Amino acid sequence: MSDTDSADPVIIIGAGPAGLAAAEQLAKRNIEYVILEKDSQVAGSLRRVDPEMRLLSPKGLSVMPDMTLDPDAPTYLPFGVLVHELERYQQQHNLTVRLDCMVLSIRKEAHGFMVSYREDRNARRELRGSHVINATGIISQPRLPDNFYFTAPRWRHSVDVRAQDIANAQKLVVVGGGASARAVSPPAVPGASFLSIYRFKTRGRHRGRQACPAV
Ligand SMILES: Cc1cc2nc3c(=O)[nH]c(=O)nc-3n(C[C@H](O)[C@H](O)[C@H](O)COP(=O)(O)OP(=O)(O)OC[C@H]3O[C@@H](n4cnc5c(N)ncnc54)[C@H](O)[C@@H]3O)c2cc1C
Repeated sequence: MSDTDSADPVIIIGAGPAGLAAAEQLAKRNIEYVILEKDSQVAGSLRRVDPEMRLLSPKGLSVMPDMTLDPDAPTYLPFGVLVHELERYQQQHNLTVRLDCMVLSIRKEAHGFMVSYREDRNARRELRGSHVINATGIISQPRLPDNFYFTAPRWRHSVDVRAQDIANAQKLVVVGGGASARAVSPPAVPGASFLSIYRFKTRGRHRGRQACPAV
């Protein structure tokens, strides 16, 4: 931190697990920080996932620095429980978060960075920081392919799929072969059709490969 103005705070973008953990560690070392979170609550992205859906990783992997998980929590936490634990973490460590602040751009300056953000969907503001921590995660802006050649009646990112949608599905096309695909794969629904496509490319020509035959 030698070539920066130490009077400026470290700016953390995003109040998910990574942003909160970073803030906790900075606070512990008496380093000033500001968290800018675009949502009106912490853990904005995780709240998009079905609260009843369970994490695929055991709870030990969700433990953050100086965090004690409820010992009675199930081994595979439902997303709703994880969100609750993150709220508790924020309170326990007194982490201040500026909510409804959407970061728009970051500019490098001679000493540090200038972060431009929109507060409450109003005026654009700027904040100078000695450092910037990008903790915006991978699910903040889920990408769906445009004009995909399947005409699906409802076309959703896995983040937005709910158990009820799967239970009601008669035909389901899953694009992508990762952990989310497994999570949304339907249980045996009598009379249902299930087609899975993976190795999807969103850049250049759209390509798909059928992982299991259409039924
Ligand atoms: C279906 C599904 C299943 C998953 N299962 C698991 C699992 O089993 N185990 C596991 O470890 N992980 C799992 N994940 C991944 C999980 O989402 C990440 O591990 C975790 O959320 C990463 O935390 P993060 O803090 O990096 O990012 P996020 O939780 O995405 O937090 C990013 C934060 O940044 C904010 N933000 C984004 N852009 C801006 C901006 N421009 N300005 C201000 N704020 C902004 C968002 O609102 C959000 O609050 C799963 C994800 C999905 C979708």
